[in-house]
Amino acid sequence: MRDRRTTALISLVLAASLAVFTGPLPAQAEAAAQAEPNQVQGLTVVQGDGYATLGWTPVDGATDYQIERTPVAADDSATGPAVITGVWRPNRQINNSSPTFADAGFNPGARFQWRVRARFGDTAQPYSSPVSGTTTPPWGDPSIPGENLRTQWETTLAAQYTSDVNEYAYTAAIDELSDRVRVTEIGRTALGRPINMFVIGYPTPAATPAAVAATSPLMINCNVHGNEPGDREGCLIMARKLAFSNDARTIDLLSRTTVLIVPTINGDGRAANTRGNSTGQDLNRDYSLIRQPETFALVNMLREYRPVAGYDGHEFGNSSAGDLPMLPPRHQNVAQSIFDESQHMIEGHMYTQGAKDGWWPCPYGCNGGGNVGLSEETILRNTLGLKNVVNSLLELRSSGGTTRPDEGNTANNRRRKTYSAMWTFNQFLDYHRANLKEITAARADAITFQVSNTGRIVFRGSRPIEAHPAPHPGEAPPPLDAPRDGQILDDAPCAYKLTEEQYHGARTDGPAGQRTTVAQRLAAHGWKVVKVADGYVVPLAQPERGLIPLLLDGQGVEKLVDGERLYPTVTGPHSGQLVVSGVTCLRDATVTGPVRVRSGGTLIATGSSITGPVDASGAAGVFLTDSAVEGPVRIAQSSGPVVVVDAKVTGPVEVSNNQGDAPLVAANTVSGPLQCSGNAAAPVNLELGNSVQGPKSGQCASL
Ligand SMILES: [Zn+2]
Repeated sequence: MRDRRTTALISLVLAASLAVFTGPLPAQAEAAAQAEPNQVQGLTVVQGDGYATLGWTPVDGATDYQIERTPVAADDSATGPAVITGVWRPNRQINNSSPTFADAGFNPGARFQWRVRARFGDTAQPYSSPVSGTTTPPWGDPSIPGENLRTQWETTLAAQYTSDVNEYAYTAAIDELSDRVRVTEIGRTALGRPINMFVIGYPTPAATPAAVAATSPLMINCNVHGNEPGDREGCLIMARKLAFSNDARTIDLLSRTTVLIVPTINGDGRAANTRGNSTGQDLNRDYSLIRQPETFALVNMLREYRPVAGYDGHEFGNSSAGDLPMLPPRHQNVAQSIFDESQHMIEGHMYTQGAKDGWWPCPYGCNGGGNVGLSEETILRNTLGLKNVVNSLLELRSSGGTTRPDEGNTANNRRRKTYSAMWTFNQFLDYHRANLKEITAARADAITFQVSNTGRIVFRGSRPIEAHPAPHPGEAPPPLDAPRDGQILDDAPCAYKLTEEQYHGARTDGPAGQRTTVAQRLAAHGWKVVKVADGYVVPLAQPERGLIPLLLDGQGVEKLVDGERLYPTVTGPHSGQLVVSGVTCLRDATVTGPVRVRSGGTLIATGSSITGPVDASGAAGVFLTDSAVEGPVRIAQSSGPVVVVDAKVTGPVEVSNNQGDAPLVAANTVSGPLQCSGNAAAPVNLELGNSVQGPKSGQCASL
């Protein structure tokens, strides 16, 4: 965990968005003066969306606290029995000097009285003076169109989950009534259900996926496991508030970025209340392989919209876990900067805000969690990390457990889960707003690291999540999961070569009638592939370098094909002109002389120094990353991919008349002009600007 930043701004904003209903009253102050021994003092109750934060002064020697809730009328007379709804324990929060508890599960809008008492072991101490308050009703004025929309889950008081058809109707109504929202269908499930995504921005969302990408969007995936529906209901309610609320936080947030919400990636599984999709596939074990139409759609969306941060919602069947187990992408091929920033979001922000608002985030596992939270790249958390997205898993503890003893009532249980998800996702939005510079810097560091193709490849294996000293929400992290023998490749290849059959051949993995080829899947991931005379070459000098070997290397645990490893052909000093025909791979090379790529040749250069010029005309592909070139660089009329990232060029750079996908020209330092023209697709920079001394012109004018 880093402490390099302040969360004061977020705290201020959050405090402003909550209304204090009841503070200490004169009568309570008097009562305090006459306190019984070990009686809890200073109880406050602050209302949030679907929860109430209780805070109190700690009692010396208390081992835990019980939270009691009683339904009351407007005059505070009881209308039902008092119930213990919460148990506060020291491992709940990082600062035991200011205990808080998010009481939840009640029907929002109802009125209650709360009391708190300390316990010494099993011995209960006197209750605090009571505090009453009316809880915050469901968001939206019932008399204003749009605001008055409610989900099926809300109208049935959590007795029913929102069905597929009711989700579509609710979604379409928001789309129609809010200028801020565009709902787009990113794909269809195996059974043909639409997979919708809310695209939310202010005053209107950016018009195209590329324009949305330029706003550094964030994404929430709400329901991959069909039998874990709690997050999805939170997402639907949250989408309404984002669509119609005019509070300053919402307007500010949506003015700066775009919120992408995928409520139901697994509509077939949700309809059937099954973990997997209609074929039985666990979709959260398919985000790298994308055998299924649902995961294919999501990965395709990630390529187009380029979110910089994400959350992936689940429920966790472990009654002793915290309220909100979370975990960063910890596969060891994920760039360090992405792991660090994700950890900062969880431990630096969520733990701090959880202690303030009374929720209990903890690392996934979180007290006897078992063998969870590992390094499979097939899990969205890890796939996103390998795509340089700062992100976290979110699990909602399924049952009330011992700390929420009133959740035998199903509706109470469901409401606690859904509103805790909403709290997390709103915190995520606030984190993104306050830390966007750090998030985008982490992403830029990650992309430049990955394109350099340096360091070992780990096929499976996680970074450790350090335990915090007890009592602390981080005292019980997930298992170590270090890479084992045979899961490390110290000498990474330069590229993988696939045969025609491997690349375009029919596959049997995936639902009949909806199967995709390796070519289609790599295209969905957005990987650059060079067509050569006898096959297809996938260089590692590209932004998703950490994921490529996991799918294309024979050693991969869940791979697509056994690709042929291509190793560097030029390393160390090379004197005189270097002529490239066929595939030439430079790694840590020093070329004293020009490099000329002949028609049909492929140049892949990483970590190299070239006394230029570099002149490629009619190449099959050109990859120039983490390298320095003296002299002009000219890449023209290539038939395939062009990637120039993190290069230092002394002299001009020209990228012209290339016929492949959009050339990637990002994070370069050019002491000379950068000129692009006539490319079949205009070059892109993935939001990583180039530092150019001369003018930037033509298709590169804004890069
Ligand atoms: Zn799950």
